[in-house]
Amino acid sequence: MSNTRIYLDHSATTYTKPQVFEEMLPYLNTYFGNPSSIYEMSRVTENAIDHAREQVAKALNANKDEIYFTGGGSEADNWALKGIAFANKHRGNHIITTKIEHHAILHTCEFLEKNGFEVTYLPVDSDGFINPDELRQAITDKTLLVSVMFANNEIGTIEPIQEIGNICREKKVLFHTDAVQAVGHIAIDVKAMNIDLLTLAAHKFYGPKGVGALYIRRGVKIDSLIHGGGQERGKRAGTENIAGIVGLGKALELATEEMETENDRLVYLRNKLIKGLSCIPYSKLNGPSGAKRMPGNVNICFEFIEGESMLLLLDSKGISASSGSACTSGSLDPSHVLLAIGLPHEIAHGSLRLTLGSATTEEDIDYVLKVLPGIVQRLRDMSPLWKKHLQEQGAMKKYAI
Ligand SMILES: *Cc1c(COP(=O)(O)O)cnc(C)c1O
Repeated sequence: MSNTRIYLDHSATTYTKPQVFEEMLPYLNTYFGNPSSIYEMSRVTENAIDHAREQVAKALNANKDEIYFTGGGSEADNWALKGIAFANKHRGNHIITTKIEHHAILHTCEFLEKNGFEVTYLPVDSDGFINPDELRQAITDKTLLVSVMFANNEIGTIEPIQEIGNICREKKVLFHTDAVQAVGHIAIDVKAMNIDLLTLAAHKFYGPKGVGALYIRRGVKIDSLIHGGGQERGKRAGTENIAGIVGLGKALELATEEMETENDRLVYLRNKLIKGLSCIPYSKLNGPSGAKRMPGNVNICFEFIEGESMLLLLDSKGISASSGSACTSGSLDPSHVLLAIGLPHEIAHGSLRLTLGSATTEEDIDYVLKVLPGIVQRLRDMSPLWKKHLQEQGAMKKYAI
């Protein structure tokens, strides 16, 4: 990574760690054999995939034959929802999810609604948590599947996954979790947590892009999404992305080893950043504080300004950040997650997401704290809303973190 820029968008994607890249390289040049062929080189690639499957299974406390490689997180989310819905439609047509899921889940649910399925979108509280009692009440005898994300990509909320898993198991409903933000960052045990299906993507934990996996518990009935050859035990067709899969396995092994120490470091830096930014008047932290927040996530709204203009000024100072989710930038609608936690449109528009990761140093945080207050002030000085506010001062309540 170039150290002239400060990258604070790790929830959008991460760089590929050198140790991961080195492990991948031989499978791009020396060992390129098709794992389905029968010559010696194919056995090498077959074994490499097998080893990666073992690394993933170990990280999740799953069995090796429950891990299926995909072309990323979105594909695994699509597969989980469509595959379960269509394979089990004789049992019912109801799916339960939340209002704050990634679009890979929400847009898939909309597609299923057009195809005869009914979807309940659970609301969340002001910190982004679903209420397990509301989930319990939403389950009917038509419910096939519950899909609740492990951790939110915008505001960092870690959902009560163990409780949700227990309820689903008790009610005999399948439970899928989009764990793309969580895998490699927080400890996950699919057996203990009663998770039936789980989505992960390598590029969110320092592996390559375009490769992910779906964990499918043994015995769960699911249709294929990609039809064709017999790869992935006949469940996901297509010649394997060998280098990508090797990179995914290695990246997850590394992330699991480093998780505890790295999280201590990130929590310290995150808290320092939140504390510093909270000194800016009319700012508000979105998402919970403390242990139920992703270690590297900071999401703050600054009233009276536009998130997008903040990003441009930060960019000109060498800081890469995001205003909510990367998938929604380019649209004028405020983030569906910020609206779901109850923020009014005009405040949601002034949101800034800074996500820290392995390349983040304390100097980076100090630099952000040095330049950001000035940027906010500069934008407010240009804002008609701010001028109006100054005239009406006293009428509005001050937000505090
Ligand atoms: C990034 C992300 C996805 C999509 O994963 P891709 O690998 O980009 O397809 C899905 N869900 C969440 C929560 C994410 O953060």
